[in-house]
Amino acid sequence: MKIGFIGLGIMGKPMAKNLVKAGYNLVVLDLNKKSVEELKAMGAETAENNVELAKQCDVIITMLPNSPQVEEVVLGEGGVIEGAKPGSVVIDMSSIAPLSSRKVYAALEEKGVHMLDAPVSGGEPKAIDGTLAVMVGGKKEVFEKYHDVMMKMAGSVVYVGETGAGNVAKLCNQVVVALNISAVSEALILAKKAGVDPELVYRAIRGGLAGSTVMDAKAPMIMDRNFNPGFRIDLHIKDLNNVIETSHGVGVPLPLTAQVMEIMQAIKLDGCGVEDHASIAKYYEKLANI
Ligand code: NAD
Repeated sequence: MKIGFIGLGIMGKPMAKNLVKAGYNLVVLDLNKKSVEELKAMGAETAENNVELAKQCDVIITMLPNSPQVEEVVLGEGGVIEGAKPGSVVIDMSSIAPLSSRKVYAALEEKGVHMLDAPVSGGEPKAIDGTLAVMVGGKKEVFEKYHDVMMKMAGSVVYVGETGAGNVAKLCNQVVVALNISAVSEALILAKKAGVDPELVYRAIRGGLAGSTVMDAKAPMIMDRNFNPGFRIDLHIKDLNNVIETSHGVGVPLPLTAQVMEIMQAIKLDGCGVEDHASIAKYYEKLANI
């Protein structure tokens, strides 16, 4: 089985490396030539463009920023669709709008090419460890066929429903993460202003009901003033835009998500769009005059 991998960024690069380590033949492509060279040094092949990559692969994985990039790379002029063989599969692991997944799926199906939307959660550390949580939408039999490939990058791979369902699950994930970082930020600021060491508060509460994966990942970053991404505010704004578009489409109000979206927009205006989403804490520090 030959696997094409397009998009070797913070997440895609370690995910592709894990596939090489698992023994798969990989063909890689990215606008960033440095990342391509890194994979080449590990034994991956390279391709000139999307069409050349797609022609030679049975599986084509995309790990790109958002819907417009996925649509351009897969459906655009010179896109994967022009080279992909009938019976092959595109596994889009980017976090994109569910409606965009359905559009890409429909166009590929017409050419006899399968598609799964399989976004991930866990960030760079889990991408490196190969322990990501993958949430998958698409045809059940296609999911079952490629389950083992996805498991080479993951700790869990869960089927959630028809095409687009993977990205609905991811949007739910992003709501919980955004609200959780805000909650952790509010709690740590409260501790500090009340004259109690936030580090000790964190240690005291992390084993109780308030503890979470988000708290363990982000509280230390907030206390260390380490806002290197990780997951950039810009990308989280992108996801919350997709959340709000989807929630309006299905008619469900999400008042707290809307509030966090405004907080993120304010942080972005302060020049923090490229920082980790842990920098939500800075908004609260400003409010509290810290
Ligand atoms: P990134 O910006 O680091 O990587 C994107 C890569 O895509 C870059 O290397 C870029 O050069 C490449 N690219 C863009 N357009 C291209 C094109 N036309 N052709 C070829 N390559 C192209 O982003 P990331 O952090 O790796 O995130 C990728 C996806 O995964 C996003 O949808 C993001 O929301 C999601 N995600 C990220 C994290 C995280 O913690 N960073 C966690 C879970 C999910």
